[in-house]
Amino acid sequence: SEDCFKLNPDYIRSFLFESKMMPSIWIVIRIDGCHFHRFSDIHEFNKPNDKQALDLMNLCAVAVLEEFQDIIFSYGVSDEYSFVLKKDSQLYQRRASEIVSVILSFFSSMYVMKWKDVFPKKELKYPPSFDGRAVCYPSAEILRDYLAWRQVDCHINNQYNTCFWSIVKSGKSKSEAQSYLKGTQAREKNELLLKEFGIDYNTLPPMFRQGSSVFRVKTETSIRENGASVRKAQTEIITEYCNIIEQSFWESHPSILD
Ligand code: ATP
Ligand code: ATP
Ligand code: MG
Ligand code: MG
Ligand code: MG
Ligand code: MG
Repeated sequence: SEDCFKLNPDYIRSFLFESKMMPSIWIVIRIDGCHFHRFSDIHEFNKPNDKQALDLMNLCAVAVLEEFQDIIFSYGVSDEYSFVLKKDSQLYQRRASEIVSVILSFFSSMYVMKWKDVFPKKELKYPPSFDGRAVCYPSAEILRDYLAWRQVDCHINNQYNTCFWSIVKSGKSKSEAQSYLKGTQAREKNELLLKEFGIDYNTLPPMFRQGSSVFRVKTETSIRENGASVRKAQTEIITEYCNIIEQSFWESHPSILD
């Protein structure tokens, strides 16, 4: 009958839209917390930067790299994280919706699981969610431009937020702080911090100024085998707060984008 025809799996599947990402180029999955302005308010994050909340994001990123071997590098700031998959990754046959959804859901579950580790005295009041997207970058140069863009964003936001919250904590209203900072240049903001609040911007923690990079490094350890010392290659996942715009970072870690 006609109903039997309609239940044919090929017919049902023909409606599926699959978007596969181009082969042999880097895939970046960027996730971002949904309404974390509110989430950070309700959970009383320190402003402008709650170190523990950033530690939690970084722990989740490490767990993501442990779970997904194809991720070679990741960069996080505030409520966002970018995960870079190696060029020739075949994860989910490069289908965007599967890759995004599995990384997103894994990250979100981790965030909830590890909450108590970083906030032992703070109750998680409601389940956080993250949105995510996939973008392909066809050359190492463009991929580095993408990462530089995120790190510049981190710097600009952190400089603004550091000024904003210094003004607010000195007793001014949020709208006063906002209008005071409107149109100010980077140098003026640094001067304001130094003159008004005695803060030397460049001495603030690198984690706040530069964001966090979680990536794999190859290490060699000596192990004893049958009484002899043998060198063994291993990979380790590390977290650093470094400048990833400069050439020197990529030169000292050539295996990441080879
Ligand atoms: P959207 O759902 O559109 O992403 P959002 O409220 O999450 O909205 P974002 O632009 O992503 O907006 O900004 C995240 C906000 O979360 C920051 O502005 C900041 O207020 C807060 N936030 C995130 N992480 C921290 C942290 N570690 N310390 C303090 N505040 C944080
Ligand atoms: P994949 O990652 O490819 O989805 P999978 O192991 O999740 O692999 P599925 O085809 O999605 O495979 O099947 C889910 C499996 O989970 C089922 O085969 C069953 O073994 C198990 N499962 C899920 N829900 C239940 C349940 N309520 N009771 C018992 N087993 C369950
Ligand atoms: Mg968003
Ligand atoms: Mg957000
Ligand atoms: Mg954000
Ligand atoms: Mg399944």
